[in-house]
Amino acid sequence: DGAISFKDVHFAYDPARPILKGVSFDVPAGKTVAVVGPSGAGKSTLSRLLYRFYDVQQGAITIDGQDVRDVTQKSLRAVIGMVPQDTVLFNDTIAYNIRYGRPDASDADVAAAAEAAQIGPFIRHLPEGFKAMVGERGLKLSGGEKQRVAIARTILKSPPILILDEATSALDTRTEQEIQAALDVVSKNRTTLVIAHRLSTVISADEIIVLKDGGIAERGTHGELMQRD
Ligand code: ADP
Ligand code: ADP
Repeated sequence: DGAISFKDVHFAYDPARPILKGVSFDVPAGKTVAVVGPSGAGKSTLSRLLYRFYDVQQGAITIDGQDVRDVTQKSLRAVIGMVPQDTVLFNDTIAYNIRYGRPDASDADVAAAAEAAQIGPFIRHLPEGFKAMVGERGLKLSGGEKQRVAIARTILKSPPILILDEATSALDTRTEQEIQAALDVVSKNRTTLVIAHRLSTVISADEIIVLKDGGIAERGTHGELMQRD
């Protein structure tokens, strides 16, 4: 379960400048749908509406048929996992950062999630921000390693719905491919909404939506979209 439906979604931060002008698409349960399009098209806004940072002004977003406006943000956070573009770590151990939001998780579960995300060797370490206070134990994590922490956190949470909001766009090409491979594993069998900059990073999505000028300009699989261009 976790099927998402965007139905005729309208949204504007500023009434004089509508961002979404009637956007409709589904993310079937367990499938991956990617939203691509130019910067400013409203891609991240879609994920914020799903998360209820803002509410749609017309139309509706449903999860398993239920309007998200009838669900508390707290309940939404329990079923939706988010891997953002840049992961900001708390000034505590990597293990603490992975466990964040899951206080009941066992040490073994945290270690297993860290292993799966290939950040296992670092879990006792502190990220660099803490270094000045604790001396040599501080560890400077690369962008890719920080994304592995976010992935481990998501593996531990194991939510039915996943939002990947430009999760690899801040990384260099080689790291991007490594992190993409890890994300493909995590998103398998989860309902996944991918926000991406480039078509080339969402080849395996079940459907790609091209968002432009407030609406869906094109949709199809990667192969279909490539053929049309
Ligand atoms: P994308 O993810 O496609 O780059 P966004 O959804 O982040 O686009 O933003 C869509 C448009 O809405 C942009 O023009 C952006 O500047 C504007 N915008 C985003 N967030 C806000 C906000 N909180 N208040 C006002 N305008 C915003
Ligand atoms: P996030 O994507 O991490 O939730 P924000 O919602 O703060 O980040 O902003 C996302 C994008 O929207 C950024 O590109 C930012 O420049 C733009 N934005 C945020 N607030 C505003 C605003 N008040 N007016 C115009 N653009 C905004």
